[in-house]
Amino acid sequence: MSHLEVNSVNIAHETIDRHVDAGHGSDLAIRFLSKNDTPDSPGEQYTYERLASETSAFARALTTLGVAPGERVFLLAGRVPRLYVAALGTVRARCVVCPLFSAFGPEPIAQRMALGDAAVLVTTSSLYRRKVAAIRDRVPVRHVILLDVDDPAAAPEGTLAWGDLIVDDGSIDPIPTTDPETPAILHFTSGTTGAPKGALHAHAAIAMHRATTQDVFALRRGDVYWCTADPGWVTGTSYGIVGPLSVGATLVVDEAEFDADRWYRILAGQHVDVWYTAPTAIRMLMHAGAAVAAGIDLSRVQRAFSVGEPLSAEAVRWGVEHLGVTFRDTWWQTETGAIMIANPAGEHVEPGSMGRPVCGIEATLLLADSEGELIRDPSGQVIEVTDPEQIGMIALRAGWPSMFREYLHNDARYRRCFADGWYLAGDLARRDANGRFWFVGRADDVIKTAGHLIGPFEVESVLNEHPDVTGSGVYGVPDPVAGELIHARIVLRRGVEPTEALLTDVMAHARRRLGAAVSPREIAVVDRLPITRSGKVMRRVLRARELGLPEGDLSTLEGPEPFTHTTKEVTA
Ligand code: ATP
Ligand code: MG
Repeated sequence: MSHLEVNSVNIAHETIDRHVDAGHGSDLAIRFLSKNDTPDSPGEQYTYERLASETSAFARALTTLGVAPGERVFLLAGRVPRLYVAALGTVRARCVVCPLFSAFGPEPIAQRMALGDAAVLVTTSSLYRRKVAAIRDRVPVRHVILLDVDDPAAAPEGTLAWGDLIVDDGSIDPIPTTDPETPAILHFTSGTTGAPKGALHAHAAIAMHRATTQDVFALRRGDVYWCTADPGWVTGTSYGIVGPLSVGATLVVDEAEFDADRWYRILAGQHVDVWYTAPTAIRMLMHAGAAVAAGIDLSRVQRAFSVGEPLSAEAVRWGVEHLGVTFRDTWWQTETGAIMIANPAGEHVEPGSMGRPVCGIEATLLLADSEGELIRDPSGQVIEVTDPEQIGMIALRAGWPSMFREYLHNDARYRRCFADGWYLAGDLARRDANGRFWFVGRADDVIKTAGHLIGPFEVESVLNEHPDVTGSGVYGVPDPVAGELIHARIVLRRGVEPTEALLTDVMAHARRRLGAAVSPREIAVVDRLPITRSGKVMRRVLRARELGLPEGDLSTLEGPEPFTHTTKEVTA
């Protein structure tokens, strides 16, 4: 039984012990599917009680190692049970957890561990050998725990064996009193627009995770829930661990990488009620073709949600038509910690809209110039946009529980995110007469051409609708007359030849749908697009490539090979 003071909030209590205390300890918290498990396998099962005792054991081990509250524990592993135990065990001990995406190479790992002042790293022997051993002397880490090693004799020099250190005797330790402002989770942003920033979140964030999980997902105790994001990204932690456990749901975690057929079979085989995924994954499902889902019963999937990039109206319609599922868009950021704008369960969806602010969140649009700088009234105050046609910067009334508390080692940058009590998101949107938000683009990405302000996403969605186009990136290049011209890079369906006729057809399709002013001036075919490992198109890189400018931070670029190779282009 944990004894909590009134003003104590600990994420481990809210996600685990609270359920055990209430007599739900034997409920299933997580079903882990390993790479070799079939999609309908029961997987490795963790009850809430098992999570409580294993996270207790992990927290005890940190104390034994002399790791003090507030110190940082980095995680670098695939989606295996001990990763989750370490994450929740860390916050249980009032240390700060920082999950890293396991596909990162040594450089991004070293950068983040140095920036985050890592005291402990939990990883696997293979990842340690391949990615960490060589950078070990450059990072501050005191202890490295190998989660797949139980015998200390098998742990390489300078590492510790999980099995030796973490002894689960079934006991559940009381959770220490935790001030809600105690730092709990450190997440790095995706690095889409520049070098990733370290956003620090407090235990208080759980209030927002729980409220949104209930209100947006309508997730309840006993529901089966699947979040496809890796805990290396904020979605995979806020909603891949914390939110759904806080309501007592059963999580499905799959260790394997994306595979359309496996995904449909997991949805059916695990009886998933609620599914949280991303536009990049939905696009991959669309390209795999609806036939893959044929014969797989998805009728149990009651609610599906998306985050990370704009969810196009086409993707929403495709889901309804081919899967019988309405994807509901949600908007938020690493910095916001939790969903801020959404299409909640049960509400009518306008395909293409991000929805409305969630419970307790006040969101608005602030007037900004074409450079994304706020425009102020004569008294120096920011100005709210009221015209439904007008574009503005998304701003949130500062002070919600999951708001980031700092950018690591960058106070000046943190302060620049706020004005007159608003947090400035850096994204531009419109708001219709019903209060629904429509994403326009990131302030850094929008294109100013011949007096129009154009979000690249609007153009990309249309290009992606062409049957031979599987992906696109749209950006502006300087032009003395128009200000900027719209250029597009597209990826073609495998096996399709980039003939001039095809490109002319894609161009004509864009002009038909968008009109000449908003269509790309130039379209070229590339082998692949620069995308972050979290699945977002890095338009800044396309632009820099074309203009011969420095490409900036590439630490989160997906894949080691060069990504672009212009084969042919047409110009309007
Ligand atoms: P960085 O800040 O390092 O450039 P990032 O902004 O991509 O990276 P994240 O915090 O992972 O890092 O992503 C948040 C951003 O993702 C939002 O600011 C927005 O631009 C985009 N985004 C998230 N959800 C949506 C959505 N539903 N529709 C449109 N864009 C979205
Ligand atoms: Mg960002």
